[in-house]
Amino acid sequence: MIEFDEAIKRTLAIAKPHPRERVGLLKALGRVLREDVKAGFDIPPFDKSAMDGYAVRLSDLAGTSQESPVTLRVTGEQPAGGKNTLKVEPGCAVRIMTGAPLPAGTQAVVMQEDTKRKGDLLQVFKAVKEFENCAEAGEDVKKGNIVLRSGSLLGPAEIGMAASTGKAALYVTKRPRAAVISTGDEVHRPGKPRPNRTGIFDANGYSLTSLLTQEGCDAKFLGIARDRPGMLEAKLARAADFDMVFLSGGVSVGDFDLVRKQLIATGYKEIYWRVAMKPGKPTFLGRKGRKVVFGLPGNPVSVMVVFNVLVRPYLDALLGKNAGGPAGLKARLTGQVTLKGNRRQFLRATLTTSKDGCLEVTPYPNQKSGVLRSMVESNALLNLEGGTYELKPGAMVDVLPLEESWKKN
Ligand code: AMP
Ligand code: MG
Repeated sequence: MIEFDEAIKRTLAIAKPHPRERVGLLKALGRVLREDVKAGFDIPPFDKSAMDGYAVRLSDLAGTSQESPVTLRVTGEQPAGGKNTLKVEPGCAVRIMTGAPLPAGTQAVVMQEDTKRKGDLLQVFKAVKEFENCAEAGEDVKKGNIVLRSGSLLGPAEIGMAASTGKAALYVTKRPRAAVISTGDEVHRPGKPRPNRTGIFDANGYSLTSLLTQEGCDAKFLGIARDRPGMLEAKLARAADFDMVFLSGGVSVGDFDLVRKQLIATGYKEIYWRVAMKPGKPTFLGRKGRKVVFGLPGNPVSVMVVFNVLVRPYLDALLGKNAGGPAGLKARLTGQVTLKGNRRQFLRATLTTSKDGCLEVTPYPNQKSGVLRSMVESNALLNLEGGTYELKPGAMVDVLPLEESWKKN
């Protein structure tokens, strides 16, 4: 058995950056950017109006107020996207729309709401400051600025930003191909009636495939292998073309736990087996060339916890993500927690904000690793050092939020 920190170290040591590919912007959501995106020009590219109104010169509006409006002559109309050939002459104004380029001589734009128009004559009821209601070229991004850095997770804002620079495609990390295999004589695919009294439906194949998909992998569920060497071997053969294989169950020390033996027989080298963590102790990591296999425990909570604390950091490194995994937080414990044994413990918990604005964390009452409902009803993991000790209410503890989204950390 190895310490959790050693497991993390060995896991990250084998995470080599995955190749990249170029995809259209609309295929880039949730992917990891693998190039710096630079603005080749100012954004916005030209000085423009930020309001529908009138382009004016400042000297014409000196002393203007509700009580003493100034009258100007409207000499033209400047729509957005149109040619920019007009000029604001002294004593005149140009009708202008939001997004339209500022005609020569424009010093500010008066909002339409502060004017009254009659034919060519315009009454202005409010003075404006220099460049008021205008947007300056480059006020969003200056030419040459890096707007997106390699390693960023691409969300809607990043994709819109890339489009603003004129890019239609981006280099992103290729989706690693992940095969998922469940094991167990008692495990059955949902969708059919339970075949016997001792059978259970497969949860892991589905949660694991979903976790991998959400994390940016091209994940495929290959089904359930019975606890017989031949069946497991056949499933592993089907996983031959994948970058990674994820198994659940059969990796502990039970008489029918064949996974580790079979993986070694198939040519995988053991990086570690058994980690001082709870849940998740039987976890196996192996490698054959560039191919990696995780043998995860069978208990549905263990699968999800190990995924969050060991597999996710591995995938983040593989995908080239800058901010790997959710950032750890400190929160105030609401109840008492008694710990025993030397393994690092990950307790399912609910993270909330108290009335005084502090983060508070409450462990789920049932911490057994078979209780998958605890994952449904929790939004965080308490990350507690091994040892025999007691934590009192009010203690500040380390928490890993479980929010699975492309939210930035
Ligand atoms: P194992 O690690 O194979 O000994 O399994 C540990 C526990 O997890 C046993 O109670 C199994 O029945 C259960 N289990 C194993 N695989 C799955 C699965 N795919 N879905 C739900 N429960 C499972
Ligand atoms: Mg089993």
